[in-house]
Parts: sequence; C-alpha cells; structure tokens
Amino acid sequence: MSAPARIAIVGSGIAGLSAAWLLGREHEVTLFERHDAPGMSAFNVSVETAAGTQRVDVPLRVFKAGYYANLCALYRAAGVAMQASDHAAVFYRAGEDLPYFRYRNLHLGRWSLPLVGLRNVSGLAIAREVLRFQRQGRADLSAGRAAGLSLDGYLEAHPFSEAFVEGVLLPTFAAIATCGYADVRRYPAEAIIEFFTHGSLLSGIWRARFGADDAIARLLAPARAVRCHSEVVAIHSEPDGIRVRMADGSEQHFDHVVLAVQAHQARKLVADHDPKAAALLARILHAASEVVVHSASETIPGGVTPGSPVSYLVAEAHAAPMASIHLNAVVPALKTEPPLFQTWNPLREPRADAVLGRARFERPLVTLDSQAAVAELVALQSEGQRRLHYCGSYAMPGIPLLESAVRSAMAVAECLGTPAPWADSGPD
Ligand SMILES: Cc1cc2nc3c(=O)[nH]c(=O)nc-3n(C[C@H](O)[C@H](O)[C@H](O)COP(=O)(O)OP(=O)(O)OC[C@H]3O[C@@H](n4cnc5c(N)ncnc54)[C@H](O)[C@@H]3O)c2cc1C
Repeated sequence: MSAPARIAIVGSGIAGLSAAWLLGREHEVTLFERHDAPGMSAFNVSVETAAGTQRVDVPLRVFKAGYYANLCALYRAAGVAMQASDHAAVFYRAGEDLPYFRYRNLHLGRWSLPLVGLRNVSGLAIAREVLRFQRQGRADLSAGRAAGLSLDGYLEAHPFSEAFVEGVLLPTFAAIATCGYADVRRYPAEAIIEFFTHGSLLSGIWRARFGADDAIARLLAPARAVRCHSEVVAIHSEPDGIRVRMADGSEQHFDHVVLAVQAHQARKLVADHDPKAAALLARILHAASEVVVHSASETIPGGVTPGSPVSYLVAEAHAAPMASIHLNAVVPALKTEPPLFQTWNPLREPRADAVLGRARFERPLVTLDSQAAVAELVALQSEGQRRLHYCGSYAMPGIPLLESAVRSAMAVAECLGTPAPWADSGPD
C-alpha cells in the first residue's frame, strides 16, 4: 500500500464531511472551515426545553431512501442513526382561508402512504395529476423524452393542469431547490422528474436522528485535524503539491486539495490556477434566500395543521412561495414544547421577539447549460494526475442536494484510490 497522502479539504458542508470520512480512512486529512463551527451546523440554534437545551438544525435537512441511496449508505457506514420523519404538506393561497390542497401520510412500517381527503374535490383532481406526473414522468424519463428539455419545455410538450403545476409542482420544487418559480421552470426536466419519481410516494422522509451535530462528529472521526475559523484565501501549485494560504497569512503544503465549497467560491480560488475549471464553474449561477426559526404561529397560513407539518403560502405577487415546517411535529424533543417553526422565504415576517435564529444561504441554480458544465467538470476531474479536486452538491449532475454532495465526494475519493465501501447505486 502506498504512503498516506496529505490532503486538505476546504469546506465542511456535507460534501467536505463526506470527503473527510471517505479519504480519512487511508490518508492524512486536514479540514478547513471559515465558520466557527463545521458548515453543516454553522447556523443551528439552541432551544431551551423542559428536558434541557436542544440543538435544532438550520436548515432542517431531510431525505428519502428511494433517491438518497449513497447518503443512506454513508450514514450507515459512519454510524449516523436515521429516523423516519413526516413532511406531509398543506397549500394555501394568499388571501384565502381554506387550503387548496392538503395531504397527510399513513405510516405503515417503513412505508408512508400519502392520503388526500375524499371530500376535497379540487384536492382530488390535483392528486390525480400528481399520480399522472409520476406515471408519465417515469415513462418519459426511461424513453428519453425529457432529455435536453427544461421543465418549461417538458410541460409544453406534456401539459398538466395549471392547478397542479402552479399550485403544487412549482411551489414544492422551489422549496426543495430554494429558488424562484422562474428558476424551477429553467431546471432540466429530467432532474425534476427523477427526483419526484424516485421514492416520493412511498419511501417516506427521513432525517439524521440526532441531528447535524451528531452526524458531523461521526463523519469527521477519521480526519486527522479539523480547523474551524480558518478561511482559505489562496492556493498555489508547487512541483510536488499545493500550498494553501489562510486568511491569517499562514501557509501549509499538501499533496492534494479538495475544494468542497460552493462553485462561485471555488472559482475565485482557482481563477489563475485552473482556468479550464474556473470557466466551467462560472457557468453555475446561485440564488440566495433566507431561513428563519421562530415561534410566530400567526404567520403560518391556517396555523398548525395536525398531520401536515409543512405549509406553503403561494402569493401571486411573489416569485417564490413561503414554506414553513412545524418543528414540534418533526423533532421529537420538541413535541410537547410551545410551537416553533422554521420558515424558508418568509413572505410574512415574524415579529422580532419571536425570532430565535435567521440564516442566509446560497444555492446553485441548475439549468441545461450549468448541467453541461458540470458534466465537463466531472470529465475533467476524472483525468489522472490531478492534485486539485472539486466537490460539492453542485458538482454532480442533478439537483444540488445531500445526495449529489455525497456522490461528488465518492468520485473524488475514487480518484484518490479510496473508493467508498459501497457501490454508487444512484436512485433506486
Ligand atoms: C433552506 C435549505 C433547506 C435545505 N434542505 C435540504 C433537504 O431537506 N435535503 C437535502 O438533501 N438538501 C437540502 N438543502 C440543500 C443542502 O443543504 C445543500 O445541498 C448542501 O448543504 C450543500 O453542501 P455542500 O457541502 O456542497 O456546500 P455547503 O454546505 O455550502 O458547504 C461549503 C462550506 O465551505 C465553507 N467555505 C466556503 N469558502 C471557504 C473558504 N475559502 N475557506 C474555508 N471554508 C470555506 C462554507 O462556510 C461552507 O461551510 C437545503 C438547503 C437550504 C438552503
């Protein structure tokens, strides 16, 4: 076996953490994070409960077994416990008192069956369209009929009802990708269909049982050193490796550097050093948005809806929905505590004294062009003899989620001779 390489990983979101776990088993890994805590939990808030202080993940990240095969495999391998959660949803239009669509989940062992009230005629019509989208989407995906089309292009060729598209498909996906409706319309149709047809109906929603802090500790266990509050400001090629410069002026030499930061952050670091990759990274655009943790029930449309912990508010004047999670319904430690919510894109601003935490996130936007750039980046990275590697939820084709981040870390680890101890299975 060859000697362990000295590897720097820059960034400790799920991509950097996955790379640290995969590479740290055989190499000397040092991880750098600019925040004071690992990136995956940098915005978590502490909530005082009757049983003591409880850390709440911000954002609350969930996954479904049918689409996140590699995340689940990593969590199992690293000993991160997983727990079934419930993200059944209710949808309101601004100015209306009653929801236009709502479902709840019937839990049967590890399966979860979405149910719509039989007396809700318009809701049933939307539910039928959801099923038709699943059926037709799956067939179109395997026949290649969605290839090369944006969602808009696909919906033009395969029309679905406006009630389903504008009322459910666009708001749901806008919240999943944290972007506006217009951005969703530009998404590659294949990515959206793949997401909604793999495990959406039955496999249920899962989360890391003990939250991000526990997952981070387990994923970082194989790393040799973890340096938080350490921003990497420059990298320089040397004949036998890469020199990394920190914001405080100190420098360190490594055999390999894995940039597990967002695409635009990576581009700034490599503009001179790796122009080919920088040009590809420049084709990946980003959207910023905000998440607020609060107790302002009055901002939640319809208040708390038992059985449907996620609520959407769709307003014509706004380019994206507001999506709120009733945390008490999904975080067991908060079950008997006063109501607490996590709201993405707060169209209704919670009063200041009800706010526990607020964070701004940037998310890559996926278009047909960015997807082509990512495919080129993947090909570029598979060329041998590289010392600089790109890793992140953006760095694999598809939707930038926990799963794509893990898959991109697996690709880097494979390149460095440390393949994951499971096969990249993609969606079931
Ligand atoms: C509101 C919201 C909800 C979401 N919900 C889900 C969900 O339910 N399920 C799901 O699968 N995904 C979800 N996501 C997406 C998921 O969170 C991201 O895909 C994932 O966190 C991206 O991980 P990453 O490691 O690629 O990047 P990041 O998490 O952005 O990590 C990059 C890290 O690099 C650090 N960094 C940057 N530059 C430097 C530097 N120069 N030096 C040192 N450190 C640096 C940053 O501080 C950061 O910690 C959600 C996202 C948002 C915003």
